[in-house]
Amino acid sequence: MHTTLKLRIPPRAPHLADGSVQGTYLLELLADMAAELLIGIDGDEGIVRGLTDVEFPNPAYLGDFIEAEAEVIHWGDGTRRISFTAHKVASSLSPTLPRSSAAQRLTHAKPICSAKALYFVPEKRRRIQNAPEPLIITCAPVGNETTREDSPYLPLSPEEIAADVARCAAEGASVAHLHVRDGAGQPTQSREIFAEAIEKIRQRCDVVIQISTEGDAAMDVATRCQPLDAGGEMASIATGTVNRGDHIFFNSKPLMEHVALLIKQANLVPCIEICDVGHVENMKLLAKKGLISLPGHFEFVLGNKGGMGARTEVVRLLVEMIPRGSTWSVAGVGRHQLRMAELAVRRGGHARVGLEDNVSLGRGIQAQGSAPLVAKVAEYARSMGRPIADAATARKLLGVSG
Ligand code: ZN
Repeated sequence: MHTTLKLRIPPRAPHLADGSVQGTYLLELLADMAAELLIGIDGDEGIVRGLTDVEFPNPAYLGDFIEAEAEVIHWGDGTRRISFTAHKVASSLSPTLPRSSAAQRLTHAKPICSAKALYFVPEKRRRIQNAPEPLIITCAPVGNETTREDSPYLPLSPEEIAADVARCAAEGASVAHLHVRDGAGQPTQSREIFAEAIEKIRQRCDVVIQISTEGDAAMDVATRCQPLDAGGEMASIATGTVNRGDHIFFNSKPLMEHVALLIKQANLVPCIEICDVGHVENMKLLAKKGLISLPGHFEFVLGNKGGMGARTEVVRLLVEMIPRGSTWSVAGVGRHQLRMAELAVRRGGHARVGLEDNVSLGRGIQAQGSAPLVAKVAEYARSMGRPIADAATARKLLGVSG
């Protein structure tokens, strides 16, 4: 949960002779934003218990334009910890003359305040119970592009994939986004190999199985969609063309419509992959034709070279663009993966991690399979009080009948 605020510091704000604003003013903004968050969560403004980590790295002046952001970073039993940051985005040119409207836009926003606040809402004052939704962690253990050179831990055979998915499930994954490889380790959409991998996964653990329809550029729709009846419950659908490094991931409108139709006919729940902002518009066209139903489940793929950047603003925009009532997840690529997963955890989204998109646990630390990545996200979610969905909960949230 988070909220934002934009304002110009008014002349009445408490200030010193040079026009610099007292820190108490900024902390009052924090209190207002915290109240807004708590009203959304509990139907009550709550009681402040303490402030920590209060910093004022740069001065703010009367007439400055500021943007502030607050988000819940921990949910306890009645307690909510809120993180607050404020930046100056435009600066007054004459802070000691508060009636002046002269100001200039800053090229880079300057931090002016950060703080953490602990609030408590007593049980009897909680009028609504907006507990955080359980987190669906999707593991993506294989993908099409990762190689054994990238990671010696990459599972290739159905047996290896099933074992890796089971390890991910043990760490908290409730969905497996599945690709498979042939005997030579190359990507394939072979129905038989998908069916074998799915059967072996089912023998080991309970996860929602999401079949990838990505294939490769040389494949036609029929080939890409071969595994739709191989025993999965969901299928990913790309909703547009995008550059991926030196390659083009090609998805024309007729091709998308065909894939969507086949997913619908196979009675699978689509995972709508969004690799660029325009893909949201394409998705709406598919929905207009009755090929997918909305609200749905979205996977924002961020950080691909040539696609959307792995940035907070992009996630915010996409969440605003998708239909209300939809669920959304973020798949960060490469070094962005865990940071984007944590952002999604805080913002009420879900997260996809795994060797398909990232082989590292941090700078210079190789992930020994996808399970350590799942564990890291699960640990982060628990640390902020967000429960982890099991497969049954994930099915309920995703509208999968199971
Ligand atoms: Zn994939």
